[in-house]
Amino acid sequence: MHKSALRQSILAVASLICLSSLQLADCGAQQVLIDTGHTTENPGAIGAAGHREFDLNRQLAVALSKALKAQGLDVVDVAAQGSPASLQARTEASGSAALFVSIHHDSMQQAWLDAGRSREFSGYAIFVSASKPQYARSLECAKSISRKLLSMGEHPSLYHATPIAGENRPLLDRSLGIHRFDDLVVLKTAESPALLIEIGVLANPDQEARLASPRFAGLAANAIAGGIRQCLPVAP
Ligand SMILES: [Zn+2]
Repeated sequence: MHKSALRQSILAVASLICLSSLQLADCGAQQVLIDTGHTTENPGAIGAAGHREFDLNRQLAVALSKALKAQGLDVVDVAAQGSPASLQARTEASGSAALFVSIHHDSMQQAWLDAGRSREFSGYAIFVSASKPQYARSLECAKSISRKLLSMGEHPSLYHATPIAGENRPLLDRSLGIHRFDDLVVLKTAESPALLIEIGVLANPDQEARLASPRFAGLAANAIAGGIRQCLPVAP
């Protein structure tokens, strides 16, 4: 048999095996790494009613993992148990991934909290690094995820673009709430396309209960998963 014909036959058999197999990673399914931001020891933002960011990140990450697996993607959960993995270690397995997604719930500047402005800010923000070779795909995924979040009724927060120390993250797309943030460790160290999502402002007492609800986590997960599915190239 001609070499190329033999290869075609092998691929055809392999795809038949894959269709009947749950070993998606062995079948060339695209891999998405979901990073549960923070750890149990350093849980990130704490809401006024006591919800910890890590727990809400985990709730959303679990729902997102389920939604992506239902789409046939191979999912790897990073720092899901809240172990104190370094930020650099979170992206170690990203070399073969189609996308790295870090899940967070937002805080705000302490000065704004001290000034009683906690109820002023709400909405989501998405960050990508523009200095990486995978920038185009990262931005494309950020856009398709944001469009899905908009259609679910969410809105971009935009306050991270405020020109003050600690913020000042340039907007790559204002209407979609996408910012450039080259120095974020997970975005800097990821070898795959990568983005970080702040899904809502936990530090806003008016937002906390909604963000903590499993219903919101399910809806947000489905929106993010739908955006991811749209931006990833179709697997061979
Ligand atoms: Zn966070």
